[in-house]
Amino acid sequence: MLQSKLFYITQKDLSESFVVPSHKFLVKSGYIVQLAAGVYIFTPLGWKVHRKIENIIREEMENIGAQEIHMPSLINKELWEETNRWKTIDPPLFQVKDRHDKLFGLGSTHEEVIVFLARKKQLSYKDLPFSLFQIQNKFRNELRAQAGLLRTREFYMKDLYSFHRSKEDFKPFYERVKEAYFKIFKRCGIKPILVDADPGTIGGEFSHEFMVEDEVGEDRIYFCRKCYTGINIEKGKELKCKNCGGDMSYVNSIEIAHIFYLGEIYSKKMNLLFQDKDGSKKYVIMGCYGIGLGRLMATIVQKFLTDKGILWPDQISPFDVHVIEIKSKAKKVREVAKNIYNLLSKEKIDVLYDDREKSAGEKFFDADYIGVPRRVVVSERGVKDNVVEVKVKDKIKKVKIKDFNKNFKKYLSL
Ligand SMILES: [Zn+2]
Repeated sequence: MLQSKLFYITQKDLSESFVVPSHKFLVKSGYIVQLAAGVYIFTPLGWKVHRKIENIIREEMENIGAQEIHMPSLINKELWEETNRWKTIDPPLFQVKDRHDKLFGLGSTHEEVIVFLARKKQLSYKDLPFSLFQIQNKFRNELRAQAGLLRTREFYMKDLYSFHRSKEDFKPFYERVKEAYFKIFKRCGIKPILVDADPGTIGGEFSHEFMVEDEVGEDRIYFCRKCYTGINIEKGKELKCKNCGGDMSYVNSIEIAHIFYLGEIYSKKMNLLFQDKDGSKKYVIMGCYGIGLGRLMATIVQKFLTDKGILWPDQISPFDVHVIEIKSKAKKVREVAKNIYNLLSKEKIDVLYDDREKSAGEKFFDADYIGVPRRVVVSERGVKDNVVEVKVKDKIKKVKIKDFNKNFKKYLSL
């Protein structure tokens, strides 16, 4: 991608005040643009990062055998009423009316729709277990939405639902989802705390949250630094960790995922049955598992902000390599930079090439905001000595142009 062609909006002189650093960064550097409170447009830069997160999640869901589906956002009132959540769900639904005065709730979660779908199949014990997921828009009628992508009213969510014969069959799958989640967050550069949690209006017997320690987080948890587990309760007396006996600290944290054992709650309310081996009809045992993508992106930003901008984790970065050509009268500079851009692009490496007629200062300023962890700087002085400057994270090296062109994957740690 030529940077001169990148649709890129920076808002460096914002007067509004921001409560949360990631919010300020994402707006100032043009990853997102606010449309209304808690409603955002993702620019090409922001959407590239979001898509990378989406693809990591999709890969790890497919790795545990879950199949992707797509459910609608418009969910009819009658379906919500089967579980009595039309009026009781918290936060309340965004309700819309069609031209025939028929009411719909915009999906904030999809248990009703997934059970409706599963009911369409005459389930036998042979069909179980199975799991389905989607990655699509959710709507939350939040009271406040001031923290950027940490709390929005429309956002992408990955929601996974699993169906089982028994609690015994459910448990190993729940553990596999936990493992898959840890893999996802590791690939995103984040180490979450696993917390015993309250199931809230989703319901169910037990649930776990994945939390990230952060002072801007709205949840306060007790957390053990030794084994990274925690509990979500009001501050009380000094606690010891149940897992390892370590001391627990009381910290602010961001919830990046929540997984639930639903048991028979939804299958009972909506009459989802399967035929067991002995011919008897039984309620299907269910689990559900969610990750909010925008909030995860904001949490990653919180962790990877630098004093100049950001340094994205490898797998999330909007581009693989940033080639920066320092403006010069010497034609050779453009030649070398262009050649590197073409060479890397041919290898399917996603390169952003700064070909703009801007000063070196402006280019580096923008580069720090775009935050690609691999950089190649082509300057007049370098070209005179037949070298380019290669920067991988915080390590800078001068490399002979000839050597670089032959072995760029090695020099870029690709
Ligand atoms: Zn512990």
